[in-house]
Amino acid sequence: MQLRFAVRGAVWVFVYLLFILAPLFMLLTGSSPPTRNFWGEFAVAIGYSGLAMMGLQFGLTARFRYVTEPWGEDVIYHFHRQISLVALALVILHPIILVALRPQRLGMLIFYQASWRARFGALSTYSLVALIVMALWRTKLKIRYETWHLSHIALAVVAIAAGLLHMVGFGRYLVDPWKRALWIGLTIFWIGLLLYVRIVKPLFMLRRSYLVAEVRKERGDTCTLVMQPDGHPGFRFNPGQFAWLTLWGSPFRITGHPFSFSSSAAAADGRVTMSIRSLGDFTGAIHRTPVGQRVYLDGPYGAFTIGAPADMHVLIAGGVGVTPMMSMIRTLAERGDKRPVILLYGSKDWESITFREDLETLEARLNLTVVHVLQNPPTGWTGETGYIDAEMFKRHLPPPYADHEYFICGPDVMMDAIEKALKELGVPLSKYHSERYSFV
Ligand SMILES: Cc1cc2nc3c(=O)[nH]c(=O)nc-3n(C[C@H](O)[C@H](O)[C@H](O)COP(=O)(O)OP(=O)(O)OC[C@H]3O[C@@H](n4cnc5c(N)ncnc54)[C@H](O)[C@@H]3O)c2cc1C
Repeated sequence: MQLRFAVRGAVWVFVYLLFILAPLFMLLTGSSPPTRNFWGEFAVAIGYSGLAMMGLQFGLTARFRYVTEPWGEDVIYHFHRQISLVALALVILHPIILVALRPQRLGMLIFYQASWRARFGALSTYSLVALIVMALWRTKLKIRYETWHLSHIALAVVAIAAGLLHMVGFGRYLVDPWKRALWIGLTIFWIGLLLYVRIVKPLFMLRRSYLVAEVRKERGDTCTLVMQPDGHPGFRFNPGQFAWLTLWGSPFRITGHPFSFSSSAAAADGRVTMSIRSLGDFTGAIHRTPVGQRVYLDGPYGAFTIGAPADMHVLIAGGVGVTPMMSMIRTLAERGDKRPVILLYGSKDWESITFREDLETLEARLNLTVVHVLQNPPTGWTGETGYIDAEMFKRHLPPPYADHEYFICGPDVMMDAIEKALKELGVPLSKYHSERYSFV
């Protein structure tokens, strides 16, 4: 990680901790209600922390480029998922401890007989449980992504709003005006985040739309959308980054899908391309996009981008994971950058290799070697077959392996296997960069 990113990352970690811990420190100061035993106070404290963590989740998924840049969007989403489990544990432990201390409190969790302030607490907890269950087992429960996404936002809003009302209802710890001011401030901040994501950002995207200039069929059930900015210069991105594409309807609808750019980042006309493989209902309909269709892009995002020019770049792609690599290679070609690059590219068979011909042309222009790895090779194939592993690296890469920069994008199983192989070869973590298409 570059120094400026390391410093910025450290600052954001500090800000995050401040937001989470401020309500706890606040409890320790000012006037307090008559002290309960330690566990009673502890239960209240973790309830406050759980609520603060839940509220800040809006910030983690608000896609602030300046905040996510040091880590990359996938790491932030991973953190969002893990920290929500911690918040859930705190929120659930809060009533468990209180009931364990005084079993009569069990009635507070039974909706129809509880007081309104206890009902809000129960509603908040149940909403959070439903939210986490749906997030963890969305595919197993066969919930459509779009349905899940909408219910995820709705449940989060209910969990937080009900949690706040529960806290206000039991206002024993909020007697000092500045304690109330802190929670009012936090609430305004969370509402602000929600409004920013759902209203301000879409308004901005509305003013910077793109028009589809071409829809190009590629090998491997893939279509390339060429998009040109409509009345604005477009945005700058780094090769390997991605954006959220809203194809049908306005950016206010929660229908954006993430796709890497496959075009050069050095293009002067602001045009960008995304190459999309048919894998589901949205991606399967891409080929029907009419030329002239208005689309919206939210981006660029991601920390998956080329590194120092002196190092050999080893690009490892599986299937449609080749799209960010294409952007990197095309950018190097446009910039006349002759750094050594090797692309290890896994595909089903010879006919379905997306960008096969483009890569042949680029190989002639760059210091680029393309190694195709086929799962179903044609008869007479003498190249690589099967899965990319440590032995394959040894056959194609010059040692010392730890000196190269590795970029990996493909199916999860492939990425896990490659990360293991690189570890076997003694490649330090700082030398490999990955983009997981499964992070959402
Ligand atoms: C950073 C990143 C870059 C990507 N780049 C490319 C690329 O260059 N080319 C490419 O072909 N694919 C890319 N993908 C994958 C692509 O986003 C999914 O294949 C696509 O969204 C699936 O949509 P679907 O409705 O056709 O499939 P479905 O069958 O409906 O969904 C399959 C899975 O895709 C994910 N998904 C569905 N809808 C969304 C959505 N609105 N937002 C986020 N995820 C969703 C969900 O995990 C879902 O379970 C990328 C993914 C990520 C995270």
